[in-house]
Amino acid sequence: PLGALDDASLLRSQALINGEWVNGATSFAVTDPATGRELGQVPNLGRTEAGTAIAAAANALNAWRGKPAKERAAVLVRWQQLLVKHADDLARLMTAEQGKPLAEARGEVVYGASFLDWFAEEAKRVYGETIPTTDPTKRYLVIKQAIGVCAAITPWNFPLAMITRKVAPALAAGCTVIIKPAEATPLTALAVAELAQRAGMPSGVLNVLTADSQQSIEIGQVLCESDVVRHLSFTGSTEVGRILMRQCAPTIKKLSLELGGNAPFIVFDDADLDSAVDGAIASKYRNAGQTCVCANRIYVQAGVYDAFLEKFAAKVAVLKTGNGFEAGIHVGPLIDAAALEKVETHVADAIALGAKVLTGGKRVEGAAGHFFEPTLLADATSEMLCSREETFGPVAPVFRFQTEDDAIRLANSTEFGLASYFYSRDIGRIFRVGEALEYGMVGVNTGLISTAEVPFGGVKQSGLGREGGRQGMDDYIEVKYLCLGDI
Ligand code: ADP
Repeated sequence: PLGALDDASLLRSQALINGEWVNGATSFAVTDPATGRELGQVPNLGRTEAGTAIAAAANALNAWRGKPAKERAAVLVRWQQLLVKHADDLARLMTAEQGKPLAEARGEVVYGASFLDWFAEEAKRVYGETIPTTDPTKRYLVIKQAIGVCAAITPWNFPLAMITRKVAPALAAGCTVIIKPAEATPLTALAVAELAQRAGMPSGVLNVLTADSQQSIEIGQVLCESDVVRHLSFTGSTEVGRILMRQCAPTIKKLSLELGGNAPFIVFDDADLDSAVDGAIASKYRNAGQTCVCANRIYVQAGVYDAFLEKFAAKVAVLKTGNGFEAGIHVGPLIDAAALEKVETHVADAIALGAKVLTGGKRVEGAAGHFFEPTLLADATSEMLCSREETFGPVAPVFRFQTEDDAIRLANSTEFGLASYFYSRDIGRIFRVGEALEYGMVGVNTGLISTAEVPFGGVKQSGLGREGGRQGMDDYIEVKYLCLGDI
């Protein structure tokens, strides 16, 4: 599929350090999860290159943060325009290495690019303040400054947007960045970096280190242990988040963590059922269920349980699974064999504990890639694995509940707190439930909540900090208090 790029130079096989494209001593293969075919090789970098990248980012810092915000913003805007201009090629790269349907990949390019112009604007509004004095001989001022060199470790499920969502506020604030993209999806990251170069990003301001899973751990250690790196942003599993947090403790590094979720999706008796079904489809099956905000547990109130299931099953049954490059595909492959096995384990466990398979329920036999049928399970219970863990696949377990209090209690009975959703037309209930859900984000009568203008993030063990929105700048900025005496 990559022979068909409009701009062949977007397919990079080198990493970017200090404005130069570099090779490693060894390389590793990137494969297409839909076919198992190799797409290309990228450098397998390690400790040494991580050190070089940190030095480059440190070296570039003063000039970059010394520029007027407007000049940094101009680079971000040019970069955003280039991403949009090359959206088709970027989408092809993304579908090839990640598997999501081409239309979804294109949507991610536009969504990912939108963080660049949003934070280009925010860059200009990093206001300080003056505080009324309590001592006539003194004046109190607060200024805000870039935190310094930042590291970003990003996941494979949004190969482009998870990079721009972190890098855009960092660069806007005046920080320089080292990105370590997921080993499954480095090609999109490198194409994005190529476009940053074309947008006029100064050398060393944006560095991309590619590495396989083993070397990624080594690079992670170097980034965490470095005292030069003042901030680490990570999106991925809670388990890896804990490791990184521990590794960052000795240097008291600031952290932004977007970790796992276990999103409840609640349908109350008074919901608009058709809208709830559409929301559940969008929230659950997008990216083959591989997003941290995907509905993981669908709770339906007893009065509408059967009616909801009937409508939902009809819509799940017509979802088409296949290679994301083919027209009309809704659900692409899972990222790898381990992901497929996890989904199988969750389904087998649910069936053993009494769930009924209404649609799907097994892997697509005979396929070269890691495909799992869009699956709907009825009569799920809290004992099942799919209720406690994030399935990260196209499986919707549906649970029955009786009262509003039950729904809230069930929804909150998890260590995670990222996204949640509920459907109701009752204004009182909307406020009660919206306030009671222990989640960083609540979708009310919608299954899609992400956009650049809002603060995305979780509570409890789903993470720290917010990405996007006005709040997205905060993690990349230090507040400095100036006390002026002798007035
Ligand atoms: P997921 O659970 O989304 O598959 P992970 O949380 O395992 O992803 O990984 C997300 C990112 O974190 C990837 O870029 C991966 O290379 C990186 N990573 C995984 N384990 C470690 C680690 N121990 N140290 C540093 N980076 C890691």
